[in-house]
Amino acid sequence: MAAFVADVHLAKLARLLRLFGFDTLYFTHIDDDELLQISKNEGRWILTKDRALCERGDRCLLIKAKEPKEQLKEVLYTLKLTQCRPFTRCLVDNAQLERVPKEEVLAKIPPKVAQWCEEFERCSRCGRIYWKGSHYERMKRFIDEVCD
Ligand SMILES: [Zn+2]
Repeated sequence: MAAFVADVHLAKLARLLRLFGFDTLYFTHIDDDELLQISKNEGRWILTKDRALCERGDRCLLIKAKEPKEQLKEVLYTLKLTQCRPFTRCLVDNAQLERVPKEEVLAKIPPKVAQWCEEFERCSRCGRIYWKGSHYERMKRFIDEVCD
């Protein structure tokens, strides 16, 4: 699967890529040289709106769209990425999610959610718990629209 490192002004795009399951690094402070180094060392695509930076990298995608969802489409369509694994990564820190039994998360989720939801995922790094709530349904439609 393609992996990315997003420039500082593309926080929302980075989150969306993680939602779709793509390994995406994002730092609130990072300079061009560091981005280029990470890209080179780890084979990641740099995502940026900075044309000058883009011309310096071998794997660099110049993002033209303004709206994050459009930016995501731009990335996926340009690189012909149709295989995505949505809801497998933490949106905050990019780590993999793992399935956890309901008993283990009961104390940490809203009682209302516990009434209807049976499946939970937990971030292997920060411990954040994810479940398929109303946000999921909304995003699912978008994901179906963009992925195969
Ligand atoms: Zn996390």
